[in-house]
Amino acid sequence: MPKVHNFSAGPCILPNEVFEKSAESILNFNESGLSLIEISHRSTDFVAVMEEARKLVREILNVPDEYEVLFLQGGASLGFLTAAYNLMGSHKTGGYLVTGAWAKKAAKEASFMGTSITIASSEDKNFNYIPKDYTLENNIDYFHVTSNNTIFGTQIKKFYKGDIPLACDMSSDIFSRKVNIEDFDLIYAGAQKNMGPAGTTLYICKKEIFGKSSVPIPTMLDLKTHSDKDSMFNTPPVFPIYASMLNLRWLKKIGGLSFIEKQNEKKSDLIYKQIDDSSLFRGTANIEDRSSMNVTFTLTNDALNETFNKMLVEANINGLKGHRSVGGFRASMYNAMPYESVNILVEIMRELENKKG
Ligand SMILES: *Cc1c(COP(=O)(O)O)cnc(C)c1O
Repeated sequence: MPKVHNFSAGPCILPNEVFEKSAESILNFNESGLSLIEISHRSTDFVAVMEEARKLVREILNVPDEYEVLFLQGGASLGFLTAAYNLMGSHKTGGYLVTGAWAKKAAKEASFMGTSITIASSEDKNFNYIPKDYTLENNIDYFHVTSNNTIFGTQIKKFYKGDIPLACDMSSDIFSRKVNIEDFDLIYAGAQKNMGPAGTTLYICKKEIFGKSSVPIPTMLDLKTHSDKDSMFNTPPVFPIYASMLNLRWLKKIGGLSFIEKQNEKKSDLIYKQIDDSSLFRGTANIEDRSSMNVTFTLTNDALNETFNKMLVEANINGLKGHRSVGGFRASMYNAMPYESVNILVEIMRELENKKG
């Protein structure tokens, strides 16, 4: 098979060694003669996987002891609801920074048990920027943000620091750059953007939030339920947790966040430079808010779309189609995307320029 350069927005690419070892575990896990997906999740071998995965999250992200790390289910979409339930306080109100489609969905969930307030929104410009000109008042229990807007290609560069508890959907840029965990009360992330296969959702939360909610929480949505049982209250999704663990091992081995952050900047700088240097392409996100994970752009001349798409297919470039709400193209470059693949895409962009520019 020729190499396919997979720029898909998610589920994400993973390093080859992760695919290989995951595949092996399905047939024969740890030389046990049994499959990873048929053994008890309470077996010593699987408990070791869960514990290593949680430990790697702590090590790589530098998670302080006062925080819990959990691998749960339901995707980030259930995280919207879980965050609201667990953070509701005396105001029964969450404040939301509405920076995209996911943020909007998160805000909606708060209204199932409380009130949702839009603190600021960038919907006036089809979410092409991150609002910065807002103030928070003491009428909200928590402030919810989306660190990276996967669809629109914008990313928060500087997080709110203040007295109001901060919740963050970090699905599409967790493990891509250094963050100060202490700035947050609750972080959640669906695995399939930058951590592993779909099916598990990572939660990192301050232990002091447990038991403090002003609303009754259904058992499975109460983060304390899962913390009390070391993330094993019920059967965990063993395969995505195992593959995530392998991917985190890989990340640690190649140099952790300090290495990958530089690498991700190098990759996104390369493509943004090509967009800015060429009259054929136009970036859709506000320059200072540009994401290093998802690069969104359009062709200035629609008549070239067909030629460009054909060139992409010939170069084995996959997944570059933009989301329907933005149009154009989106190059998603998660951690495992090699620099060489980005370079190949940029060469195709240059080639189009030479042909038509
Ligand atoms: C993909 C995505 C989601 C939805 O994740 P699911 O795990 O499919 O529920 C939520 N937020 C962001 C930022 C995303 O990129």
